[in-house]
Parts: sequence; structure tokens; C-alpha cells
Amino acid sequence: MIPITTVQFGEEEQELVMEVLRSGAVAQGPMVARLENRFAELFGIRHAIAVNNGTTALVASLQVLDLKPGDEVITTPFTFAATLNAILEAGATATFADIRADDFNIDPASLAERITDKTKVILPVHLYGQMADMDPIQALATDRGLRILEDAAQSHGADYKGRYAGSYGLGTFSLYATKNITTGEGGLITTDDDELADRLRVLRNQGMRSRYVYEMAGHNYRLTDLQAALGVPQLERYEQTVSTRRRNADRLIEGLADVPGIVVPRQLEGRGHVWHQFTIRVTPEARMNRDEFVEALAARGVGSGIYYPKLVFDYEAYRTHPRVITSDVPVAAQIVSEVVSLPVNTSLTDADLSEIITAVRAVAGA
Ligand SMILES: *Cc1c(COP(=O)(O)O)cnc(C)c1O
Repeated sequence: MIPITTVQFGEEEQELVMEVLRSGAVAQGPMVARLENRFAELFGIRHAIAVNNGTTALVASLQVLDLKPGDEVITTPFTFAATLNAILEAGATATFADIRADDFNIDPASLAERITDKTKVILPVHLYGQMADMDPIQALATDRGLRILEDAAQSHGADYKGRYAGSYGLGTFSLYATKNITTGEGGLITTDDDELADRLRVLRNQGMRSRYVYEMAGHNYRLTDLQAALGVPQLERYEQTVSTRRRNADRLIEGLADVPGIVVPRQLEGRGHVWHQFTIRVTPEARMNRDEFVEALAARGVGSGIYYPKLVFDYEAYRTHPRVITSDVPVAAQIVSEVVSLPVNTSLTDADLSEIITAVRAVAGA
């Protein structure tokens, strides 16, 4: 079976982990600082603050924005549960705008309609490795005095007109095992704002400014030097990683362009896609439904994934939650029933890519 995701570490990671082990300092220390500095430098953002995962990165970011009960955060319904869980954990109310079919991300026109007097934060998710349409989102934020928090968990190094993900206010990244850069579990928060960065560094460490001097009610959201040692070499190789993913995506796009009933993803004008996922749509015009399609691919040895099988609020726990305000999102409701992600990872060989293309074409009757 050609797997949808693979995790690959090299000798550089082994050496750096050993260096940390030999140093005897395994908690947050110099290796975490090195990861932060390199990340900030690579993506042209003043500050990167490492935390223990992408979900706490979102929670901490919302917490330093000082939201009050009743304050609303607008996000996309087509995301991983962490986005919504973080909003609820921070005590805010979640509302939802519809998405666009061409980039799977929040639709600025729908977003504009959903802003209320209570809205404080716009939380776009850069899904699958491609950024949301940031110009109109930024214009709305400026116009209405709102903060932007980008959930870039899947989009390390993606750009919009040359500007990197995580540079529009606050940005969060995940370093979970399946993400483009991984430390097993881990996260990063980026911002150009000195004051927010300072508060985030205090917040992640029990609210402690210096030894036993507490400035706020904080958390233990720290990353360890052992984890950071896995991330540093991947950052050094990241340009290569992205170009491999782009080459794989280009091959798939070319091979699947004319398959009836299947819509292939694309990199939109002015955006640098980092292809965390390569997600096609099995539309109602296809000769089989999505479940049959996924099964037939598996029978031919091609792994795939459905990210995500339902809209994020479409579970009992959220539908009945007093701080989740659902709304009509027709585009997202359609898309959620059509998506299938195919392997695009860096372990794929030319033969694997041909096999994926041949399998999809055969299954879809091209
Ligand atoms: C992975 C992910 C997160 C959460 O990151 P963790 O490191 O798993 O906590 C948040 N949002 C999105 C869109 C993700 O894909």
C-alpha cells in the first residue's frame, strides 16, 4: 500500500538528539531557542514561540488577545476539531463563515456577512498547505478593528503574494507527526508584535517572568530540547521538502487533469502552496460515490484519507454547545462530502506516482 503519510528522519536528527542527550539539558533550553530563531528567520517574522502542540498554540494566542465572555471568533467550518476546541478552551464563542470551492478556505465575502458587534478575531485556517485569500481578509480586519489569528498548522512556509503564513498578526503552526515539519508533538506561534510575543513566552511557562515571579495565570505549554532537536534539521531541509512536494503535486495534476467527475486541486495565482495534502473532489458526476472510490483505490494499493469527513460543528457535542453558533454553509456542506486526499509525501517514487495516477484513472473510468 502506498501510504498517505510517512515520517522520515535523517542522520542530522539522530546527531542533534544525541547532542541534547549528552548535554543533560532536555527540557526547554538552547535547542528550542535555535528552532524558534531559525523558523522566524526563514519565514521573515520577528518572533517564533515554541509550544507543546498546535492546539495549545491556538489557545495561547487567543488568550493573549484578552477575549471576554461573549466575544466571537469567526472561523471556517472545514477544519480539524482543534481549531474549534481552542476557541472554546479560550472561553470565546465560535461562529462560522462559508468556504470557497477553489481553495477550500474561508470565503471573505461570507466572512464579511458574519461579522457582528461581538466579533473580535478572524481565524482563517490555511488548509492543505495553501493560504486563504488574505488581502480581503486583512482589509476587513483593518476596517472593522479585528485581530487576525492564522491557523497555519498545515502550511509552514506557504505564502500569499510573497508574504509568509503566520505574518498577518498571530500565526500558529503544528509540529505533529503527520505535518510537513514534525517533532512528534509540538507547535509554534509567530508574530511581529513584541508585546504579544513577550506575553506568550511568559504564558507558556506558568505565567512566570523570572524564577517564582508570576505575572499572570499561565500554563505549562513548553516544548523540550529533545523535540526541538528533531525539528531543526527539518527546517534546514525544508526548501527541498517543499520542492519535492510541489513536483509530486505537479505530476498528479498533470496525470489527473481530464478524469471525468474528478476535480484536481490547484495552486491559485499569487499563492505558494506547500502541499501538505493533495485533495481531489469526487463530485456527483463521478461514476461512483466517494466511499466506493476510496475502497477501490485501497484495493489497488493506493492509500488515501478524508480530511475531514464532517463539518467541524456537525457533532452532537458542538451542536448543543452554548458557545458554538452554527450557520448555513452550503459550499462547505457540499465539499465535505466530496474530498479525498491522495499521497503527495516526500517518500513517493516516480513509480508510486504513476501507480497512483493509473489507479485513480482506472477507478474513475478515465
Ligand atoms: C494539526 C492541526 C491542528 C492541531 O495541531 P496539534 O499539533 O495536533 O495540536 C490545528 N489545526 C489544524 C488545521 C490542524 O491540521
